[in-house]
Formats: sequence, structure tokens, C-alpha cells
Amino acid sequence: MRAFEFTALPWNIIFGAGALARLPEVLDRLGCARALVLATARQREDAARVVAILGRRAAGSFTDVAMHVPVETIARARTEAARLAADCTVSIGGGSTTGLGKALKLEAGLAHVAVPTTYAGSEMTNIWGKTEGGHKLTARDVRVVPAVTIYDPELTLGLPPHIAGPSGINALAQAVVNVCARDDNPIVTLMALEAIRILARSLPAVVRSPRDLAARTEALYGACLAGAALGSGTTGLHHRLCHTLGGSFDTPHAETHTILLPHTVAYNAAAVPEGTRRVAAALGVADAAAGLFALARQVGAKTALRDVGFAAADLDRAAELATAQPCPNPAPVTRAAVRDLLGAAWEGRPPRL
Ligand code: NAD
Repeated sequence: MRAFEFTALPWNIIFGAGALARLPEVLDRLGCARALVLATARQREDAARVVAILGRRAAGSFTDVAMHVPVETIARARTEAARLAADCTVSIGGGSTTGLGKALKLEAGLAHVAVPTTYAGSEMTNIWGKTEGGHKLTARDVRVVPAVTIYDPELTLGLPPHIAGPSGINALAQAVVNVCARDDNPIVTLMALEAIRILARSLPAVVRSPRDLAARTEALYGACLAGAALGSGTTGLHHRLCHTLGGSFDTPHAETHTILLPHTVAYNAAAVPEGTRRVAAALGVADAAAGLFALARQVGAKTALRDVGFAAADLDRAAELATAQPCPNPAPVTRAAVRDLLGAAWEGRPPRL
């Protein structure tokens, strides 16, 4: 066995149907008394429910969360937290909402309890991000790992299939890149392979029967493990491309991951044959890239960049931006090869090995 290094992140997880009811106990345990509840406008009802559960421990709510954590949103939420004398935040929602909780921890020191309602997995990572003037900055900092994460699968029952499918494949991507990494780590791989097995079997069931609590529970657990793999593991060309397309061309986050994943897996397959084989085995298919492409179709997700508003005229520029800085990745990253990959993904062609 190879030598390796592993640093655990300070995760505290409460997982189970109905777990949201434990919020008051969680705040008491943290020594917090006045929570600012964070949500998107679309999830105002979820925020109101959290406020009701918190009772006197709720200072108020901020339901103006935006994608990619704009600095203006951080500033407004910070002002609101100060006005209400909040001493912590409770975020309820997807990666965008968790992201605001992380930013407020970093910039205002507010303890953060995360209640994820998608499969983005951000709550398990030490990665934070914010956007300023159209540029997205991301970095790792252990302080942004939420003080406690409450996973309540009942909250995901209303997540519509068209969001659930790509969101679940976004989670899969975090696991897959860590199994197909040059410096793969045995503990991270353990979590990642289990995440792949669980997500591959639960996502089709979630999309077929959105109210299936058993499938929802499995998918949320798979997302938790995938986020753990990303948090304690690595990234490479796949995340570089998603970051470039989302940050500079405003493509939707989970859909971009879903479209690119089969292509980035095919790109690296020859460089990491054993990892790629293990991903295929966990998916229960002969070929990992083809299997991921088929899974995306099975869950009804888009498989072409041209279908998510990305213009063909931007392909060259995207390849240039993505390769402007060195990118640690199993296979060498060249502008020409990346341009080919993006071209195939734009058309929605099956991945080429
Ligand atoms: P999102 O948070 O933007 O949510 C998408 C939409 O779904 C929102 O309108 C939200 O309100 C709605 N929604 C969420 N849960 C719902 C539910 N249960 N029922 C109905 N509607 C619901 O999307 P996302 O894909 O979860 O997160 C994407 C963002 O997270 C990106 O900005 C990405 O960069 C970030 N992210 C960060 C990390 C990290 O480690 N830092 C990891 C993954 C994603």
C-alpha cells in the first residue's frame, strides 16, 4: 500500500427524517441564542418553518440569497445580522444558501448551522467562494465547515426532478474526480466509491418517484459522502472547467457539472485506468464515461452545453481561460485538447475515449 496523508475536517452531522426539529437543541449546544435564518426567495416557506421551530432563538430571516454568493449579498446579510444582533446563522437551501452561511462565518464570525436541501454537498467542504464584478473567487479554509449540519431528507421531497437530477450528478462529480485522481487517497476513495454506488442507484428512483422518502434519504446520504470526498480530497480539470464556464459565462452550476463529467472522465481515463475502472464498477457499468452520460440522460438532465445558453462563439475563449494557469490533473492539460472536449460537450456528443 502507498504512503498517504489524510486530514479530517471538523464535521458534525445529524442525519435523519425529521431531524430539523432538533435545531433548538443544536443552537443551545453551540451556545447561540439569536439565529439569522438564510434562504432564497423561493424557499421563504422553509425559512418561515425554521423560524417557527427556533421560536425565541430566531432573530429574523434573510431570504434574498443569490447564486454564487455576490459580495453585495454578503454585505446586505451582514448588515441585517448586525441590526438584529444575530449571533449565528441557520442556512436552509442548496449550495448558494450554504455558501452565504460560509461567507458570513468567514467575514463576520457568525457560527453556521447548515440545513442542505439539494445534493450540492457544500456543507461538507472547506471550500468557500464569492463573486465580485463578475469574477468568482474560491479558496479553502477550514473555518467555513459548518458548526453542525442537519440532513433531513423530508426537506428534499419537494426538490423538483429537473433540479434533483443535475444536483445529484454534481454530487457524483465530486466523488468521481477523487477516485480518478493521480494522488488518490484511500480514505477519501472509500467515501467516494460508496457515494457513487448510492447516488447511481438512488437518483433514477428520486426522479421517477419524487416523494419516495427511502430514495431521497439514500440520495442525501450519497451527497453527504460525495461532499466529504471533495472536502478532504482534490479537484482537477473537471472543476477548473466548471468554474470557468460558471464564473465567466454564467452557465448553471449543477447542469454544467452534469454535462462535462462524462467528457472529463474520458479525458483522464488512460492516465488513471485503475480509478476509472473502479468508478465503472461502482456505477455498475462497463465504461465509466459512457455510464455517466447514460445516467445523465436517465435522470432527464441536459447533456449539451448549447442547451444551457453557452454560445459556440465562446468555446475558444473558454478553452483559453481554463488553460491560462497550470491545472493539476491526471492527464496533461493542453488548450487544444480542452477545446476538443468543450466542442464535444457543446454538441452533446457521447464522450470519446
Ligand atoms: P442552488 O443553491 O442555487 O439552488 C437552486 C434552486 O433550488 C434555488 O432556487 C433553491 O432555492 C432551490 N431549492 C433548493 N432546495 C430546494 C428544495 N428542497 N425544494 C425546492 N427548491 C429547492 O443550487 P445548488 O446546485 O444546490 O448549489 C449551487 C451553488 O453551490 C453554486 O454557487 C456552487 O458554486 C456552490 N457549491 C459550492 C460547493 C463548495 O464546496 N463550496 C460545493 C457545491 C456547490
